[in-house]
Amino acid sequence: MIKAKCVVEGTSIKGTVFFTQENSNSPVRVTGAFIGLRASVQQGFTIYEFGDITNGCLSAGEHYNPFGKTHGAPADEERHVGDLGNILASVSGKATINFTDTMISLTGPQSIIGRTVVVHGDRDDLGLGEDETSKTTGNAGSLEACGIIGIAEV
Ligand code: ZN
Repeated sequence: MIKAKCVVEGTSIKGTVFFTQENSNSPVRVTGAFIGLRASVQQGFTIYEFGDITNGCLSAGEHYNPFGKTHGAPADEERHVGDLGNILASVSGKATINFTDTMISLTGPQSIIGRTVVVHGDRDDLGLGEDETSKTTGNAGSLEACGIIGIAEV
């Protein structure tokens, strides 16, 4: 069992995300909780390429995309590895997440450990928008909160 953890922080958003993987071929389970989100609005949830937040979330680079794909939804074959869709908050701005993903991994050369979780200001359109940026960023807007993924105690 491989475990990783990320403390996500922004001006209003605070959250903790846990990643667990049985072995290198297993899907990764992603669980976590957030407060301070926009009430009843979807906000993009993405893994960025660099574990660098020296200039805030902006130093984390772009969506983690080791295979040169276009932006998409978690269920799509054509997506960035870092594309994990959206978080939907309650009316009080809280959300919990619990899903599995088969494209991210906690082992090997494409491990997400040491990269950055970003929560966006707006909804990720999952690559379905009309404009060009839909295929690169999902038009998810500002980088509202972020944190570097680290190795967690098993
Ligand atoms: Zn993307």
